[in-house]
Amino acid sequence: MKSLDETQIREEILQKIKSHGKFPDNHGRDVAVFWEKTWPMLGELGFLGFLISKENGGRGYSAQEYVIALETIAGLDPMAAYVINEHSTIGGLGVSTTGSQLQKDKYLDKLATGKILAGFGLTEPGHGSDVTSLKTTAVKDGGNYLINGKKIHISLAEQADIFTVVAGVPTDEKNLNTAFLIEKANPGLRMGEENSSPEGYLIPGAGSIEMDNCVVGADMMLGEVGKAGKVSRGVLEIGRFGLASIYVGNSQTALNLCVQYAHKRNQFGKPISNYQAIQFKLADMRVGIQAARLLVRDAARIYDEGKSTIESGAMAKLFTTEMARNVGIEAIQIHGGHSYLADPPIDWFMRDAKMGEILGGTSEVMRMLISRKVLASQEES
Ligand SMILES: Cc1cc2nc3c(=O)[nH]c(=O)nc-3n(C[C@H](O)[C@H](O)[C@H](O)COP(=O)(O)OP(=O)(O)OC[C@H]3O[C@@H](n4cnc5c(N)ncnc54)[C@H](O)[C@@H]3O)c2cc1C
Repeated sequence: MKSLDETQIREEILQKIKSHGKFPDNHGRDVAVFWEKTWPMLGELGFLGFLISKENGGRGYSAQEYVIALETIAGLDPMAAYVINEHSTIGGLGVSTTGSQLQKDKYLDKLATGKILAGFGLTEPGHGSDVTSLKTTAVKDGGNYLINGKKIHISLAEQADIFTVVAGVPTDEKNLNTAFLIEKANPGLRMGEENSSPEGYLIPGAGSIEMDNCVVGADMMLGEVGKAGKVSRGVLEIGRFGLASIYVGNSQTALNLCVQYAHKRNQFGKPISNYQAIQFKLADMRVGIQAARLLVRDAARIYDEGKSTIESGAMAKLFTTEMARNVGIEAIQIHGGHSYLADPPIDWFMRDAKMGEILGGTSEVMRMLISRKVLASQEES
């Protein structure tokens, strides 16, 4: 990779946004405004193709460039950064990493420009952390697969045009988890009833999809039968530390708001920024954010070296989301009772962080991944 100029990437991102005016004021977290105004802008700015090669209409960013760009965008509009990451990693990256030439030709330029939005369907009503025994099946039927099952908690489900769905291809012994691309227009796919829009700055919504004898051509399989793990690991790993970079940016926003408030809020005749109790909270926030940033950058560097980021990505996500939760809690404390009068409320930072400790693999799962590596390394030595 060419040498990384962080300032240049940040400036480029900021300049591009400026050239379009600015992100629509989404500060009241108006999801409808986001989809109507910000989403098309992301495509025009080229922000939906960061990880797609230049030949295919994207920007061909390395992971290290990507996390800097995401953190920068998250500082301005965290919802935009969240949507970019879902679309660019778990939603659409499988087409670049494991897609056939036909799939690349059909989808990559549309993904890069935002003509289509991609979602990812792994989680099921009965299977969240444990994806070893999914109930969704894909049964071979001539040149097609018949897919049946339900996926829940899918980010951007309502707006997505295409999903990477993991389904089990039955064999005599067990079902082999396999990834398929399914277009929303497929008559065998319908939206499920579960649909939510958790309060917070980041997540515009999550929904469910149901597949009922959904006919999917064998040429829509991503990778090979039984290799969904390979597809999803590749996209989940960068999706995780990508998500972490968004929490770095969002936590920095929380810290900035705390500093502004601490300067202007007077108690006992002085701004509360004069009190060490407040100063130390700000210092701890600053340290946490910087430590998280470095873990994210480290995972991105390892990814760019072509090595596994199961451990480094898990460390980045685990540390960052817990840091973001602490920042969110302390932001409430610093704002006192005004935290819930603020518009939007300050406690949204904490709510967002709590979701971050669940989606993309829970903190417990991250600890499982890390501890497995720790234990294995001791066995080897
Ligand atoms: C806002 C949001 C967006 C999401 N977007 C997507 C998406 O786009 N696509 C998608 O496929 N999924 C998505 N998810 C689903 C997410 O990945 C799952 O919620 C997550 O993997 C956890 O699964 P679960 O909620 O079923 O919890 P469970 O797996 O039921 O876990 C419940 C609790 O038990 C703990 N636990 C489970 N197993 C163990 C164990 N072996 N040891 C210790 N503790 C354990 C968990 O850590 C957790 O604390 C999203 C979730 C949310 C909240």
